[in-house]
Amino acid sequence: MREFRAPEVVIRRLAIYLRVLGQCEDEQEPYIASKELGDRAGVTSAQVRKDLAMFGEFGKQGVGYDVCNLKDEIRRILNVNRIINTAQIGVGELGLALARYSLRNAQRQPDYPFHLVAAFDIDPQKIGRKIERMVEIYPFEKITDLLRDLNVSVAVITVPASAAQDAVDRCVEGGVKGILNFAPAKVTVPKGVRLQSADVTLDLQQLAYYL
Ligand code: NAD
Repeated sequence: MREFRAPEVVIRRLAIYLRVLGQCEDEQEPYIASKELGDRAGVTSAQVRKDLAMFGEFGKQGVGYDVCNLKDEIRRILNVNRIINTAQIGVGELGLALARYSLRNAQRQPDYPFHLVAAFDIDPQKIGRKIERMVEIYPFEKITDLLRDLNVSVAVITVPASAAQDAVDRCVEGGVKGILNFAPAKVTVPKGVRLQSADVTLDLQQLAYYL
């Protein structure tokens, strides 16, 4: 566990900076100024400098940031400079789409850190099948042992809301340290496990307010 915990908004912005730096690398831009990084990330240059200053000194006066170096530094800060094994829990419409998305990212981007190594479902028609001929769908009842055996640290929950807490509990029993929950249910996790929720409906409702 790290001693220094940066505010969540800063961590979110670092992930956005990382995406911009990846694009710069594709465009073969060796350096980027804080102004351009800010413009492309949708924040001010002062915000960029302030965020990065929390973690060290990365830029050079008059030259800007070395794209490759800053990308490596942010990957290290975010802990995504290593392979993180993930599992999909529930392989319905959404689970299948997310699993495919993850596998394609891993194929296209050599440094994509999230490696989907297993999927789980209760539907006998789905169990034993392979997603994109790569990742097996295992029976949910075997989840705890398999998560441990496969060293899974992140689980993505895409089961019906009524099954979400049980799925989360089993993932925690299996040693998972991070949960991304898509089910519209309030779930809880013990201390030491990080829970994050994603909800398109909430985002749309928030968006609708501004229409
Ligand atoms: P779906 O019915 O197509 O898929 C659910 C899958 O979960 C099925 O394959 C089912 O067999 C499996 N399942 C059921 N109970 C299980 C259990 N205990 N363990 C393992 N697998 C189990 O549903 P969907 O459209 O893919 O949606 C999945 C979940 O995601 C739902 O909770 C839905 O409300 C939610 N959802 C969230 C968002 C979002 O933006 N957060 C968007 C769409 C759907």
